[in-house]
Amino acid sequence: MTSQPPLLEIRDLKKYYPIKSSILKRTSGNVKAVENISLDVYEGETLGVVGESGCGKSTFGRTVLGLEELTEGTISFKGENIGGLSEKQLKKFKKEMQMIFQDPFASLDPRQRIGDAIEEAFIIHTNLSKREREERVRKLLTEVGLKEEYYERYPHEFSGGQRQRIGIARAIALNPTFIVCDEAVSALDVSVQAQIIKLLKKLQESHQLTYLFIAHDLGVVRHVCDRVLVMYLGAAAELAPANQLYNNPLHPYTKALLSAIPRPIPGKKKERIKLEGDLPNPSNYPSGCPFHTRCPLATAKCKNIIPEWREVEKGHFVACHEV
Ligand code: ADP
Ligand code: MG
Repeated sequence: MTSQPPLLEIRDLKKYYPIKSSILKRTSGNVKAVENISLDVYEGETLGVVGESGCGKSTFGRTVLGLEELTEGTISFKGENIGGLSEKQLKKFKKEMQMIFQDPFASLDPRQRIGDAIEEAFIIHTNLSKREREERVRKLLTEVGLKEEYYERYPHEFSGGQRQRIGIARAIALNPTFIVCDEAVSALDVSVQAQIIKLLKKLQESHQLTYLFIAHDLGVVRHVCDRVLVMYLGAAAELAPANQLYNNPLHPYTKALLSAIPRPIPGKKKERIKLEGDLPNPSNYPSGCPFHTRCPLATAKCKNIIPEWREVEKGHFVACHEV
């Protein structure tokens, strides 16, 4: 996998949201939603992104897709710099990069037939005739495990799992290369979750897809992902092949996260590591290592100096002074 050039090269990516003071209408600070992330994404892989709610997973995914304007850093896709491109310049990449959301219903118009909703992508991006478009939609429906005749149905006539299949059909309609799955299976029952994951895997093979798989459930990520990025307060804490991360976590935050998984890893004694204190507010960003306020290993150095993002073993990166 690593012998090929990366599909995406992300360097020093930052996404800050300005905080506007309501009285003076001036910027009075920033929410640091993504703080200095650098990594490569390889073709055909599933890269997991995990971390507590509010740690910047969605913002990271959206910024990589160009749905949010980046604050600093570079993103290159197939060797071309796409960070900071205008809407028009981004158009040719938009087809190649798609997103699957947690709640596909939110993006569906309740009065629009499902077939028409899926067809929209073809109207916007292709010159296909009405008949050709309909054919493509019917093929897509069967490809995601639905029936052709569902074309005529409305969103409320589908179950949660079926709606997610519709979301997936829309995402793959234009043959993308890269898909951000943002909590795509998080709201589903376990059995439905397994079916959707199976579908995503099947499509990954048949369409040569690369996934950025955002989830807060570390158990699911373990099964689905080749590599996993752990985020804390917008920053990258650790990145490693999934097996390595789960069997040999290095960052104290990763260790704490893993210790909180309900089902322990077979054969391993389970000791819950409880983190002290609350998650700091990303608008009042800690100095030094962002995790130092809750870290059991923190020293004076951690309070003052941002730890370097180091590759400690091949493919295993960590940002911690104490590792
Ligand atoms: P996650 O997906 O990990 O739950 P998000 O990316 O949604 O995290 O949010 C990261 C941080 O950025 C949070 O503190 C959130 O409140 C903030 N944030 C997200 N979107 C915006 C926005 N449009 N404007 C201001 N702050 C935002
Ligand atoms: Mg999110």
